Amino acid sequence: MAEGLSFEQSLSDERRVNCDAERRKRKIRRVIENILAYALATQSVMAVGAGLKEKNKLPPLPAVLEKFLDISEKEIEFIEKTSDPDGFFLRCYLGKEKIAELEQNWRTARTEDNETMANRQSGETAFSNPDQINIDPEWFKTFSVSTFPDNWVNGEVDSVIFRDEAKEMPDRYGIDGEAAAIATTKRSGTTKVNFYRGAGTDFGDVEEIFAHETGHANDWENDEQLSFRERKRFLVEVAKRFFTGENTVPFSYVEAIKNDDQNEENYLKIKEYWAEICEEYFSNPDYFAARYPDDYRLVHRWITKDYQDFDPVIAKMKRNFLRWYFTDNGQISANWEGEFTELLNRSREGVEAGSHHSLIYEFELQYKNSVSGTNQKE
Ligand SMILES: [Zn+2]
Repeated sequence: MAEGLSFEQSLSDERRVNCDAERRKRKIRRVIENILAYALATQSVMAVGAGLKEKNKLPPLPAVLEKFLDISEKEIEFIEKTSDPDGFFLRCYLGKEKIAELEQNWRTARTEDNETMANRQSGETAFSNPDQINIDPEWFKTFSVSTFPDNWVNGEVDSVIFRDEAKEMPDRYGIDGEAAAIATTKRSGTTKVNFYRGAGTDFGDVEEIFAHETGHANDWENDEQLSFRERKRFLVEVAKRFFTGENTVPFSYVEAIKNDDQNEENYLKIKEYWAEICEEYFSNPDYFAARYPDDYRLVHRWITKDYQDFDPVIAKMKRNFLRWYFTDNGQISANWEGEFTELLNRSREGVEAGSHHSLIYEFELQYKNSVSGTNQKE
């Protein structure tokens, strides 16, 4: 214990709150015990007196006891609610068992993470295409690693695999049809993103699906760089946003999820809501920020926790540039970053000069102009 601090001051906030709740529980129990003892004493005195007059008019003793026990349960619930409102909120929507399971995993996550990280050579994601579908995995690697935040793909996703295979949606979602991709997470060993036939080979689609799946790899359960406290805060923020937020995004996919177990359904919904808002954040950053500012901020806050410089608009333009360039030339030039920066600067000038376009759209026009060799303004 540090010098000059009381026992309570030396505790962390979390411990102090628990300590407080314990003390209040004990106090309430003591009050109830006293009332109960008084009631029992009164009851027996009255019973003797009443028994002499009107034997059956008094309530039976067990009912009296039950009434007091009810009060104490309510009091305890009240204490839980006021001392740990976030925990209470999560238990209401997801059930006690789910929260206990998550907290158990979070407690051990740190050691597991360290072991996993140590087993990885450099944390670099492996990209493969065993069925030879029409996607170049090396190209996709350049594309994804250079346009997502550091440690969003590398260090979080062990492998990305493109498969020529139809895959049904897992039963627990209650949705018929094929899955485009599935992220399996490290609790089953390693974090993998599997693309299936449902994803198709259109690069724009694959890019968006990838943004969604990597959202799963970076959530409160799977992100490698979170403390216990951050994991809980993260889950609370997404759950509150989804269940009680205003102007949330009406994703039909999330709404379609059905499970007989209401807690499980709620949990799947918030997992998918998080992945869906990640997809929007990366794929349509400027529109998303304007139309759904609270969701945009929620994603941005967790991404920039460790990487403060990340700008999703610039990242999206980079991704567009790489995709167009590759489609037009079949390869990427060694100096693509230099060419990108030059076009970006020209686009910024265009917007500043009053083109009335968004930066992303102005960039597209500048790219088209550079390809066709004209300098006309559209
Ligand atoms: Zn998903």
